[in-house]
Amino acid sequence: MTIVYIGLGSNMSSDHGGTLISPAQHIISAIRSIGELESINMMNTSSLYQSKPVGPQDQGDYVNAVLKLETDLSAIELLDRLQDIENDHGRKRQQHWGPRTLDLDILLFGDHIIENERLSIPHPEISNRSFVLVPLAEIEPASVIPTKGPVGDLLVDVDQTDLKIMQ
Ligand code: ATP
Ligand code: CA
Ligand code: CA
Repeated sequence: MTIVYIGLGSNMSSDHGGTLISPAQHIISAIRSIGELESINMMNTSSLYQSKPVGPQDQGDYVNAVLKLETDLSAIELLDRLQDIENDHGRKRQQHWGPRTLDLDILLFGDHIIENERLSIPHPEISNRSFVLVPLAEIEPASVIPTKGPVGDLLVDVDQTDLKIMQ
């Protein structure tokens, strides 16, 4: 079994037969869908956080969370299942870093270091993003990112002014 951390994000609503699904509802629904996957044990989920978009600023605020699970899937098998869940939530691949109904990133996969055409693990942007580091530290304060260092040290250098915990 491998311990895995997933980063979740959403900043777009979607329309399900006239019912609007909000970004927070996408995140909650994605957590449920991941928990229902075979070969996965959900271990913990962070609070939901609100953050400002990275990249293009003409898009809505994000809702973010991080979850911890254990699995005997390979990283690529897990990516396939996460991309299915993104697609089920109406994800369209358009502008880079543009608005999306659901984004699921594999942040850490055990202590593996993976670099191929479909996967970079640890996720290369972890240390620059308060919306990843803060929820990760919430559920795993002692976490150490391979090649980057303890999450607590990384947090010191990241701007948290635009990050809010949601009630
Ligand atoms: P960022 O990676 O900077 O957060 P993004 O999430 O907007 O950007 P996407 O358009 O969602 O990027 O993903 C593009 C591709 O990134 C995916 O098709 C996937 O193959 C690849 N990818 C590389 N590393 C990872 C990872 N650790 N987790 C998820 N996808 C990854
Ligand atoms: Ca992402
Ligand atoms: Ca992604």
